[in-house]
Amino acid sequence: MGNLVAIVGRPNVGKSTLFNRLTQSRQAIVNEQAGTTRDRQYGKCEWLGKEFSVVDTGGWVVNSDDVFEEEICKQVMLAIDEADVILFVVDIVNGITDLDLEVANILRRSKTPIIVVANKTDNNDLQYNAAEFYSLGLGDPFCISALSGSGTGDLLDLILSKF
Ligand code: GDP
Ligand code: MG
Repeated sequence: MGNLVAIVGRPNVGKSTLFNRLTQSRQAIVNEQAGTTRDRQYGKCEWLGKEFSVVDTGGWVVNSDDVFEEEICKQVMLAIDEADVILFVVDIVNGITDLDLEVANILRRSKTPIIVVANKTDNNDLQYNAAEFYSLGLGDPFCISALSGSGTGDLLDLILSKF
């Protein structure tokens, strides 16, 4: 079976962009292009000679404020069940939203290792915004830019250390 890393979070935080970067593919549809993906998208990642699986969740959302809260929570609970490590992706530009808090509430009850990934840290100044994510109660936020790839190598090192 091998290890599985699940990417969860509310729409638009960059989950699919991160999935594509980790799996070095263009498998997951990034939100700009309208069109749905399947609820869950699986791929493989290799880092330092070790291979593991990655699952992207929430492909159902298409440029819409219509957020299916229940669906997001369902995906988070599935991730808790099946994953060895959960990447909880948040958006450092837009900060914490009610949906983030809801996801965090579910994740705090889980024993699965969780990494809070502060995505969209496209420049160093944005790193200072990460402090607010401590309030999610899920440990140190890890700053990356899924778009540029900044920080993703260190994130992969951290993921491997959790297996
Ligand atoms: P998802 O709904 O969580 O899967 O988010 P997507 O991966 O579809 O990305 C949503 C939007 O955020 C898209 O316009 C991406 O290009 C953008 N995005 C993703 N990662 C980054 C990043 O690191 N920096 C910036 N500036 N934008 C990003
Ligand atoms: Mg997506």
